[in-house]
Amino acid sequence: MTERITEAAGQAPVVARSDVVVVGGGPAGFAAAVAARREGASVTLLERYPYLGGLAAGGMVLVLDDMHNGNEITTTGLCMEMIERMARIDACVFPPEAERNATLEMHMKWASWGLFDFRAGGKVQPIVMAAAFDPDGWKRVSNEMIAEAGVDVRLNSWFSRAVMEGDRITGVICETKEGRQAIMGGVVVDATGDLDVAVAAGSPHVHGSYMLTTVFRLGGVDTDTAERFRWEEPQRFAELDKQAKKIIGGSWDRWWLKTPLPGVVWCNCPHMVGLDGISVADTTKADFEGRRRIYAMVDFIRANMPGFANCFVVDVAPQLGIRQTRLLIGDYVVTKDDVMDRVWFPDTVARGRDYYTPYRSMLPKGIEGLVVAGRHYSATESAQKNSREIPPCMAMGQSAGIAAALAARRGVSLRAVPVKDICARVRAQGGDPGDIPSANAKLLERAA
Ligand SMILES: Cc1cc2nc3c(=O)[nH]c(=O)nc-3n(C[C@H](O)[C@H](O)[C@H](O)COP(=O)(O)OP(=O)(O)OC[C@H]3O[C@@H](n4cnc5c(N)ncnc54)[C@H](O)[C@@H]3O)c2cc1C
Repeated sequence: MTERITEAAGQAPVVARSDVVVVGGGPAGFAAAVAARREGASVTLLERYPYLGGLAAGGMVLVLDDMHNGNEITTTGLCMEMIERMARIDACVFPPEAERNATLEMHMKWASWGLFDFRAGGKVQPIVMAAAFDPDGWKRVSNEMIAEAGVDVRLNSWFSRAVMEGDRITGVICETKEGRQAIMGGVVVDATGDLDVAVAAGSPHVHGSYMLTTVFRLGGVDTDTAERFRWEEPQRFAELDKQAKKIIGGSWDRWWLKTPLPGVVWCNCPHMVGLDGISVADTTKADFEGRRRIYAMVDFIRANMPGFANCFVVDVAPQLGIRQTRLLIGDYVVTKDDVMDRVWFPDTVARGRDYYTPYRSMLPKGIEGLVVAGRHYSATESAQKNSREIPPCMAMGQSAGIAAALAARRGVSLRAVPVKDICARVRAQGGDPGDIPSANAKLLERAA
């Protein structure tokens, strides 16, 4: 049995008090904070790391996808605003509408950016609305949007405890270099990705897992040569590509993708299985093992792969690529069938590619004053694997922020906020809450 000590109880100064407290500055938390502030609530946003962005910036996950259902763009709102603003500063690239199709010509033009529908079958994966971006561009635009909205941001603040009054959360405690600090709020949004706040508040949850990845970027890549080689010498390319993948030991079919920076590619690999994304031992192991594999692969491709002779490692993402850890058991648990069958819910408040997120899956059972948004929402492990991309997490965040602001402003419980009011405000903010089902949705129930 693990040896234990008893910690001394102490006091923490209250350093902030606001209508809404958002914990986690990743895609979901950023969207929640901006959306709540735009509804007029005072908002404090807490982030453990010294920058905003979560996996999108620190994790260098550099493609926004799962936002198109084959016929229409389904995730708009703050995600689209982020795309447009990053594009204006040359930090984001996406295919123009006329080039979004399943022709080989467009596939050859855009696939190396990762801007295809990766869930579509068929010989040629269609080019759809998706965006490749630069991680520092994300940080820059997030800072601008947060500052414009007037959100009180507290970086370097690591959430550790929930402040509870019975079954209601009334604030949070963060560990900082200045010691423990209390941040009190009317409503708290858990956007930590690992369900830290809800678990500390006593919420039921499951402990899921999925592969971990030490994402990295290479510079000095001659991408034109690399692409020509792929298309013009498919057999030799396939042999070398197979060997490179064997060394890295786990990757998607395309292990490198272009970024807006010339000659810089991002590598969504190596994937490592059987590790827990919240275990200190496992995440340490992943960093050491990931870096070992990365440098072994770089030696190989420099010597053998056309286009990569002068490549070098720009950086390994400061944040480990953690896809799934703890998942909420909320008022409703979304299943894989719900996601794959495109089941529409009467209380839908957000959507991804062509699946719908019910408000109930963001509300922790038995806890008041707390709403969750992002990759730890209430879904089964297999459902989450198919519904956790950045755009749907942002859509959830936007709805959570609006719900939190409405509850705080009206002085009512989150469960008493009418879904139609949340959806109306999402639409007013330019988002699509999914309240109107698409033609391909499966309707089990109709809205009252
Ligand atoms: C390797 C990899 C590849 C992926 N590929 C894609 C892709 O190509 N396209 C795509 O759209 N999605 C992709 N995803 C999925 C996507 O990145 C995530 O699901 C998404 O970023 C989740 O957003 P989030 O805000 O819920 O969580 P996160 O991005 O994890 O953000 C959580 C935030 O909370 C902060 N936080 C956590 N704990 C605390 C604490 N205790 N106190 C204070 N702050 C805290 C974190 O630092 C972070 O900023 C990928 C994920 C991984 C790991």
